[in-house]
Amino acid sequence: REVTAMGKQLRGLRRLLGEVDALSRAAALLSWDQQTYMPKGGAEGRSLQLSTLSRLAHQRFTGTETGDLLRGAETETAGLDPDADDACLVRKTGREYRKQTRVPGDWVSAFSRTTSLAHQEWIQAREQAGYSLFQPRLEEILRLRRGYAGFFTPCDHPYDPLLDDFEPGLKTAQVASVFGELRPRQEELARAIAEKTPADNRFLHQRFDEKRQWELGLEIIRAFGFDFDRGRQDRSAHPFTTAFGRGDVRITTRMQPGYLGTGLFGTMHEAGHALYEQGVDPALERTPLGGGASLALHESQSRLWENLVGRSRCFWKSCLPRLASVFPGQLGGVDLERFYRGINRVMPSLIRVEADEATYNLHIMIRFDLEVALITGDLDTGQLPGAWNEAYQRTLGLTPPDHAVGVLQDVHWSGGMFGYFPTYALGNLIASQLWEEVRRDIPDLDRQIESMDFSGLLSWLRERIHRHGAKFEPLDLLRRALGEGLSPRAYLGYLETKYGELYGL
Ligand code: ZN
Repeated sequence: REVTAMGKQLRGLRRLLGEVDALSRAAALLSWDQQTYMPKGGAEGRSLQLSTLSRLAHQRFTGTETGDLLRGAETETAGLDPDADDACLVRKTGREYRKQTRVPGDWVSAFSRTTSLAHQEWIQAREQAGYSLFQPRLEEILRLRRGYAGFFTPCDHPYDPLLDDFEPGLKTAQVASVFGELRPRQEELARAIAEKTPADNRFLHQRFDEKRQWELGLEIIRAFGFDFDRGRQDRSAHPFTTAFGRGDVRITTRMQPGYLGTGLFGTMHEAGHALYEQGVDPALERTPLGGGASLALHESQSRLWENLVGRSRCFWKSCLPRLASVFPGQLGGVDLERFYRGINRVMPSLIRVEADEATYNLHIMIRFDLEVALITGDLDTGQLPGAWNEAYQRTLGLTPPDHAVGVLQDVHWSGGMFGYFPTYALGNLIASQLWEEVRRDIPDLDRQIESMDFSGLLSWLRERIHRHGAKFEPLDLLRRALGEGLSPRAYLGYLETKYGELYGL
């Protein structure tokens, strides 16, 4: 670590950021509890507690004291190596502070009011598959979001400031260019697979005791390197990962008694997020640098463990006998090839969260096009359901029978989260880029995975990605880790090789 006589202003700034961090982590804990153990009766009190804590954190961070300390700390750290922790901290804090203080308080309260109403209306609309129940509020959210983009003019594209909230520094044009390269080949691959006989995965659809599923999941993620002294797993309706510090990282999972895939791959996915949080340098704790670099980087970690490890042949070489010993009646007669083909079955579907590796990004690219058009005004909310259905028919050959499994399926737009969707697809791309590099560095990685030894892989990820926390912007971190920026090449190579072999293309 760099040797610095920490200046007074920087010390003050760190103290203030520590308070903001404590408030946010306390809110995260309340929210974790809300989704795991809170009884129904707690809902009203909890939403009040949560909004109070978030407001306090926001006020503390955007107050004039932060601005004053920041200016002082900028002077004090001016001579530091730009990669030093303190230099990164001041840079990141300054960027965030200047961004957040451009947004007037009136907008923040209007946005929070509108999206909380929208959430209820979206749930109702989805239950009744009635888009018109949701459309007026969506219109209002879009007006607010366009207003938000307006606080950051001049910018190259009105979607840029929205995307920046999730992927600091990434531009709409970069995403469009990557997707432009990705789309035709992913569509072609999906078309080619659709002409083949789908793999048989009926063996995954049997009764699987939930307690055994749970224990097997724990066994796998313990082998991955999940540290149970610094984290735990619980159940929730929608799996998620949250961290109250690098010493307490929570994951949740869900299991279906009639389908093994949900619990198995969901657990590995969340463990990937958790390993990232558990691997951040302790020196970055209680600062804005003490977590993942961005959503796409985070998703790259979860996808890497879920798909590149968890859906690989070499992983199941040793893990299938173990799985079959837990479920001998269901899986005793399933050999490795049949299992491997089954867990990698490709089937175009209407629902993003159920999509397989080969079609997942197509769901994302549809949403990206639509939300960019909504923000620019090229598409209005009246045209949205038609445009959605048309895109699904054109891309995946399916038309939703109703809006609940169509335009209303995702929660994001009701929460005003425009700019979020692309990060899922970018996570897939980054996972493959990292995978290509780690295989070069660890030539016998497959053999290590076959013997359930993940220590080499985890140390590599810790060194290249995890320990840096949010010190660097995502594309910068990627260039430092790989010597290249974002690229669809590795992912396309991975998909075409894997599914070409599976489907004889
Ligand atoms: Zn995830």
